[in-house]
This record gives sequence, C-alpha cells and structure tokens, in this order.
Amino acid sequence: MSEHNNDTDKGEKAEKSNEEATNSSSEQEEVEDSDMEKIRKYLAQKLRLVESSDYDEQSQQKVLREVSIDGIVDYIKQNENCKIVTMAGAGISTSAGIPDFRSPSSGLYHNLEKYNLPHPQAIFELDFFMENPEPFFTLAKELLPEGFKPTPCHYFIRLLWEKGLLLRHYTQNIDTLERMAGLPPEKLVEAHGTFYTGRCLKCRAPYMLSWMKEKIIEGLVPKCEECNEGVVKPDIVFFGEMLPDRFHFLADRDFAQADLLIIMGSSLVVQPFASLVDRVRPTCPRLLINKEKVGMQDRLSRLLGLRHGLIFDTRNSHGGRDVAWLGDCDTGCHLLAEKLGWGEELKDLVEKEHERLDSESASKD
Ligand SMILES: [Zn+2]
Repeated sequence: MSEHNNDTDKGEKAEKSNEEATNSSSEQEEVEDSDMEKIRKYLAQKLRLVESSDYDEQSQQKVLREVSIDGIVDYIKQNENCKIVTMAGAGISTSAGIPDFRSPSSGLYHNLEKYNLPHPQAIFELDFFMENPEPFFTLAKELLPEGFKPTPCHYFIRLLWEKGLLLRHYTQNIDTLERMAGLPPEKLVEAHGTFYTGRCLKCRAPYMLSWMKEKIIEGLVPKCEECNEGVVKPDIVFFGEMLPDRFHFLADRDFAQADLLIIMGSSLVVQPFASLVDRVRPTCPRLLINKEKVGMQDRLSRLLGLRHGLIFDTRNSHGGRDVAWLGDCDTGCHLLAEKLGWGEELKDLVEKEHERLDSESASKD
C-alpha cells in the first residue's frame, strides 16, 4: 500500500516537473546548457578523461564554413535570427579623436602636474576624489564628449540593431558615442559607467551630462543644487568601485544566448569585462576586430583551468570558431558591412548622421 502510494507520488512529481520543464523559457534552458557545459568541462579536466588541449579542440566544433571573416559572413546570412553580442573598448573611439585617458603617455596628464598627484591613476580613485575632486574635473574638461562624432564602427553596431540582429552591445567606453550614434539605451551596457549621467555623492540627487558639462567647461567643480554640499560625480566607474548591476544582470543572460560574439577595439585585459568572451556557448563563433590578436589563453590560466580565452590558428583540421581580423575597427566594420551587402547603407548612415550632428552643434553656437 505504502509502495503504491509512493509510486503515485513519484508519477505526479514526474508529471509536475515535466510541466515545469515545458513552461520554462528556452532562455533558461540555454543558461542551464551552458552551466552543464562548464561542469562537464571541469569534470573532464579534473578526472583527466581528456587532456585539456584535446578538450579545447573538441569544443571547437565546426560551426564556420571557413575560419575567416567570410566564414562569419556566411554564418550570419544563414542564421536568420542570429543573436549577436558586441563588445567594444577604446579602440572603437580612437578615430573619433578621443584620447586614451587611462594611458599616462596620452599627454592629458601633463596639465595635472600642478596637483602633485600621488600617481596618475589617483584621479580615478574614489578616496582621492572625495578629498580633492579638482584634478578629475580638469581632466574631464579635456575628455568631455564635445565635438566628437561616433565612428563608422559605432554606426555598424546601430545597423546590427536596425536589422534586428543585435542582442546587446557591451562597451568599456564612457564617451557616450554609442548613445550619440542612436543605439537605444536598452541595447547598451556601459560596463564602466558613463559621463551621460551623474550623482551627488552626498544626497544621491541625479544630474545629466548637459548640466555637468556647463560647470566643467567653466572650470568649476559641479556642486549639488539639492543639498548645496555634495560634489556631483559622473557615473563612470572609478577604481575599486563595483560595476553597474545592469552589467552583471544582463551578462548572465545575454552571453549564454548569443549566436555570435563580435569583439572590437578592446585589448581584453581589464576584468571582469575581458572574461566575458568565455561566457558564450562552445558553439558560438567569436570574431575579433582589432589591431592585434588579444584575449588568448595564457599558459598559467590554462594549467589552472581558470580562463579559456580566444583560440586562433587551431591545428585541428575541423577548424575553430575564433576569427581574428587585424586592422582598425572602422575598416573592419566597413568590410564586414560590404560583405553582408550593407556597404552603401553604412556609408549613407554615417554621412547623414554626421551632417545632422554638425548642424546641431552649429545651431548651438
Ligand atoms: Zn546633493
């Protein structure tokens, strides 16, 4: 009797869990798939069922006709609803004239000698900023997104969105050029924050770029008009600060779902941004458009099973999934657009949008 009851219970439970499985979104299944894959890989390596190098080549399944930009183009054309995630770093904004502010050799730091900084990076340290915000705003004056225009690469990302192919764009840049290029905020993750908004450090009152810009251009430290006390800090992520919640929340979902990852103009060294490349499924091709090859797995991480990184030039005859196209981001994006049959569209979009921005800034003057 009790056995019978148990069986019935089991039957009901099985039915119930079947229902739950059917109801759960495909999104969730994909997340689980990728977790399972991680566990499988971990166990296989720990139990030495396979050498890790063998495993890496096995996981490089044949998803591309050829490991080249043409292979990527074919892949996009064949996947009608291809979900593309793009990742970008400073390299996509250099042709817009934006200096690399994290590099002390950029010349920006020469104006700051009078402040006797303990070290150049102190400008982006919260403790230092609380004590002395002036050097930061002196630097910000040079960096303010004023007169800068988005690049062909930015407009290529917008085209991906217009074609319904962009799942999300992750950027390390704080220059707001993605917004200026017309990418809607919901498609954008500004991993290191943005100049676009700011907050009073004392009462948390929110401020917009236009308000902060006025003060900064006048050479003033922007002071909160609500509490009349706090300094208004742009929402860029300082050293030691947490990345925005939005970054963690969306990265957990997006990367497991992506059908293609395109990485542009990032040296892939700043964490946790750099390790996002490891979070796509093993069958997701990854295209790097950059001046040099970056993001490869180093020997130590490989031995420790820490991060996998990009794998170029695999010896496996089946070919890999990682493609490096070396050159500047604008040329790479023009080429990609051309091969996808959007070449003229991209050129027209850049021209039309640049004209619009020019006339807007002319009418402001
Ligand atoms: Zn305040």
